[in-house]
Order: sequence, then structure tokens, then C-alpha cells
Amino acid sequence: MPELKIELITVGDEILIGHTLDSNSNWIAGRLSQHGLRLRWHSTVGDDASDLRHQIRRAWNRADIVILTGGLGPTHDDITRAVVARFFNDELVVRSDLAGMIAERFALRGMKPPPGCERLAEFPSRAEPILNAHGSAPGIHYQQDGKELFALPGVPVEMRGMVEDYVIPRITARRGETFRFRVFRTAGVGESNLSDLIGDPRRLEPVTLAFLPSIDHGVTIRISLTGSDEGDVEVELDRAAAIIRERVGEYVYTEDARTLEEVLLEQFRRRGWKLAVAESCTGGMICDRLVSIAGSSDVFERGFITYSNRAKVELLGVPADILEEHGAVSSETAAAMANGARERAGVDVALSVTGIAGPTGGTKDKPVGLVYAGFAGPSGTVAERYRFSGDRNTNRRRSAHAALNLLRRNL
Ligand code: ATP
Ligand code: MG
Repeated sequence: MPELKIELITVGDEILIGHTLDSNSNWIAGRLSQHGLRLRWHSTVGDDASDLRHQIRRAWNRADIVILTGGLGPTHDDITRAVVARFFNDELVVRSDLAGMIAERFALRGMKPPPGCERLAEFPSRAEPILNAHGSAPGIHYQQDGKELFALPGVPVEMRGMVEDYVIPRITARRGETFRFRVFRTAGVGESNLSDLIGDPRRLEPVTLAFLPSIDHGVTIRISLTGSDEGDVEVELDRAAAIIRERVGEYVYTEDARTLEEVLLEQFRRRGWKLAVAESCTGGMICDRLVSIAGSSDVFERGFITYSNRAKVELLGVPADILEEHGAVSSETAAAMANGARERAGVDVALSVTGIAGPTGGTKDKPVGLVYAGFAGPSGTVAERYRFSGDRNTNRRRSAHAALNLLRRNL
């Protein structure tokens, strides 16, 4: 079966003037790809009826599935419903079932419907309403000439619910084939190294290989396959997964969607260990990542943000002569920070990071992007050197990730 051609149009002036980041398109593209579906085209159009009509016409002509988000609300700049109805030579009629549902929604909250709300019950006569579990504007579903159009609200939480519960099941049902994928999340290795290690991707055929890099989570390797027989698809994926594990398994920290910090916290929890963190250039990012995970209090004891030399001495007991002799950004200081944090916090393991995030502060010997992470645990103390080349905040995020990976490798 040929690939379904899917087109997305996000609607709204707020996106075109740079006020709102078009996260809807990013999220929809990601969700589709989890189901082996790919957006073929994506565009953004302002709150202008003529522009929107042209864009819908072009999409309807070339795509099998058209998805719109935005402009479904009750205000005057919300034009999507009227434009879509007109495009299909349809008319808006008041639907008492929708009016009832919307009124009930507000009544349940003890609220009076806002002015203009009755417009939400005016619905295209030949379209199917899509239930909105998180808001009042229903989505619109047209089916015609073997094609489909879905118009969804712009509010992310409303749009997401409809995509999950309504749009994706309908698109995947059309395909009639099985799509399966596996992920391997890696840390401490770049895309090109992974690619070299895995070798010619044709060895994995018919399975498809993709590298998905991320600053905070490392490179994710994704293998996927579409086929008519579910069992065959699984067998092929098992075969490819074995090759990936054999070639790059040492870099893989999980084969599911967990983050590195979730994996680490789980390992600590199993051992009944406690963790402390001492951060300089990352200024709390590592602690933030740990604390974002529910239940981290079982494991995470405390964090030290020791940005100045004085803080490193006072809070962690880093010897002043180490700072003087080797500098704050050195493997010796990283090790002393980790040792100090472990001792002062009275924990099993401590992690530290110190570096030059930039853009200023670099020297010939200690350039911007030079970072050291330290690990102190029952097995001893180690420090590791990294050299990053991004802007200030990218370097900080990469440092946090590298430090967490140092922790993983020393457990
Ligand atoms: P409402 O009923 O709230 O008016 P709507 O369907 O008319 O919803 P819009 O008015 O276009 O949607 O947008 C509502 C809000 O949703 C915007 O203020 C914006 O914050 C957010 N939003 C709209 N489009 C996007 C998008 N593509 N990406 C992320 N957020 C968006
Ligand atoms: Mg609106």
C-alpha cells in the first residue's frame, strides 16, 4: 500500500508573529511517527479566510489526510469552522446535541457560558463532530472522495486528546498494516560514531534505522518496520535489535522511553543508596532533572550549588591549594568536589561538575566548553574531561547529561 500523504496546517497570527511557538506541529509530527506515519507537508497560515481557503485547497488536492489546528474557538478571529464548511460547500447548522453538551460543560463547573459560546454549536451539516474532553469547541471531521480532513482546536491539551483518541486510530485503521518500533537510548556517544559502529544499515534490512539526537537525552536509535504480519515484524525487529545490542550496547542506557535520571534513580533505589550532587557551571540543572522524577526523595539527598571558589571550599571542603594549583575547572577539583559532597552529605555516591560554559572566561589552556565531572562512591573517585562546543546553555545541558552518564558508568 502506498504511503498515506498527510498534510498539517497550523492556523494563527500568533505563530506568524513569533508570539506562540508552533509546538502543535512538533507534537503531531512526533505522535504520527510513533505510529509509522509521516507528515509529508506542513505549513502555517494566519487568521485570514482567503489565505486559509487557499492553503486548504492545495492540501486537499495533494494529500490523503489534512489536519488543521487552531481557530476553532468562539471569537471573531476564529475562522476555521466557517472556512472549512465553505470549502466543502457545506453550511453551518445549529446542533442542539452540541449546544446541550457545551451548556452542560459550563453548568458542571457552575459557570455561565461566555458570550459567543452559542457559535460553538453551529456545526457543518455534513461533518462529524470530534468530542473535546478538555474544552468546549468540538473538532470537525470531513470524509469525502476517499480523503479526510480533521480540524482541531489550537489549545495544545485539547488538540492532543483528539489526536490520540480520534485522529490516529482513524488513520492507522486505513493503513491496515502493522507498524512496530524499538528504541535504544544512548549517552556519551555521537551520531556518527554510532553509525560507524553499527555499520552498513543494509545489514538491518528490511528494518529501518534512524538516529534521533537530543541535547538532554543523548542519541536515540530507533529501528522500525511496517509489515502485513505482526509476528514476522517482531522477528525481524528482534534480529535487528540483537545487532544493535552487540554493536553499541555499552552506550545504551535504556530500551524504553525512560530518561537517564529515571534509570539511575531506579538503580539507586534497588541498592538502597543515596545520592548527592555538587554543581558549578550547571547551577542546579542536574538536581532539577533528578527532582523532576516522582519519588526521587527516596534516593536524592541534597544538592550543592558551589559556583564560586569560596563556596567550593566552604560547602564542600575542597582544599584551597587544589583550587590554586589546578584551577576550579580541573579533574582534581571535580574529584575533590565529589569527595566533599559525599562526605558532607553522608551519602553512598556523589556526583560533581565544573566547567567553563562560555561565552567568556575561556583561556588557551582552559577553553570555553571545557568541563569536568567527578564521581565519588564506594568503589573510589574518578573524574572525566569533556570538550563541548555549543553556546552557554547548550554546554550546560550537555554537561549535566555527561555527568549523569559518568554516574551510570560507575555504578
Ligand atoms: P480557543 O477555543 O481557545 O479560541 P482555538 O481552537 O480557537 O481555541 P486558537 O485561538 O488558534 O485556538 O489558539 C488558542 C491558544 O492555543 C493560543 O493562544 C495558543 O496559546 C495555543 N495555540 C494555538 N495554536 C498553537 C500551535 N500551533 N502550537 C502551540 N500552541 C498553539
Ligand atoms: Mg481562538
